[in-house]
Amino acid sequence: MILRSFKRVRPRCLADLACFLLVAVFVPVTFIFQVTVVLPELMELFGFGYYLLFFIFFIGVFILFNLISNMMACMLVDTSINIELLKPPLDPVQRISWHKCDDCQAEVPPRCRHCDICQICVLKRDHHCRFTGCCIGHYNYRYFFFFLLYLAIGSMISSIMGSIFICLHLDIYWHLSTLLTVFAPAVSLALNANWMSFYLLICELSLLSFCTTSLLLVYHSDIFKRGTVVKERGTSRWNLGLHGNSQMVLGKRMHITWLSPFIRSDLPHNGINWETKED
Ligand SMILES: [Zn+2]
Ligand SMILES: [Zn+2]
Repeated sequence: MILRSFKRVRPRCLADLACFLLVAVFVPVTFIFQVTVVLPELMELFGFGYYLLFFIFFIGVFILFNLISNMMACMLVDTSINIELLKPPLDPVQRISWHKCDDCQAEVPPRCRHCDICQICVLKRDHHCRFTGCCIGHYNYRYFFFFLLYLAIGSMISSIMGSIFICLHLDIYWHLSTLLTVFAPAVSLALNANWMSFYLLICELSLLSFCTTSLLLVYHSDIFKRGTVVKERGTSRWNLGLHGNSQMVLGKRMHITWLSPFIRSDLPHNGINWETKED
C-alpha cells in the first residue's frame, strides 16, 4: 500500500473543500449532540440502565471510528498510476489492452482512467469523490465503500434519535415559525439563533444525509456486486462472480474488513494485470 503525499491529499477545488468540510464538521457535531443532548433525555424517558447506555455509546464510537478512519484511509491511499513502476508488457497481445494517456504522457493499463481534477490516471477508476476530494479506484474502493456504509448507518441512527428528540419537544417546534425552521433551517438559525434551532438543523441534516447515502450505497452495491466501475456498467467482462468481485474490492480477508480499515487484507489484483471472465 502506497500513501499519498500531503500535497496531493488536500482538496483541489472549492466544491471538494466544501463537501469535505461538510462531513468533517457535521459528523463530530452530530455525535456530540447525540451523546450530550439526546441520549440523556432518552435515558430519562425510557429509564435506560447504565449498561444499555454504555452499549449504545460503544456502538456510536465504533461507527464514528470506522466512518472517520475509512474516510482518512480513502484519502491517504494512493490508487493512481506510479509512472516510474508502470512498464507496458512486451507481449503484443497483452499490450493491445493498454492505451496512452495524453495528459500523463504515459502508457496505462486497462481499466485505468484519467481524472481531470486529480490530474492523474487512476487504476480501475470508479469516480471522483467530492467528500474525500480524491478519486476512488482499485486500492481505496474498500475504504470508500465502508465510509459510505458507516455514514449511512450513522445518519440512520442519528435520524431516528433526532426524530424522537423533536417529538419530545413539539411544544417548542410545533408552531407557525417551525415552517421556516423546517424548510430553511440555516435561515431560521441566522434570524433566531438559539440551541433548539441548531438541534433541528442537525436532525434535518442527518435525515438528508441518510437519504443521500442510502441511495449512493444501493448504487455502489450494485457496481460492487458486478465487479465493475461506473464507466463499465454496460459490460460484464470483469465480472468474476460475487465471491471474486468481493475479493477484488475487499481483499483476501474480506470477512473481517468491516471491523476496521487497519485490518490488512491484500487485494488479489495489482490494478494493472486483470483477468477477465473469458480467461
Ligand atoms: Zn492520465
Ligand atoms: Zn479525481
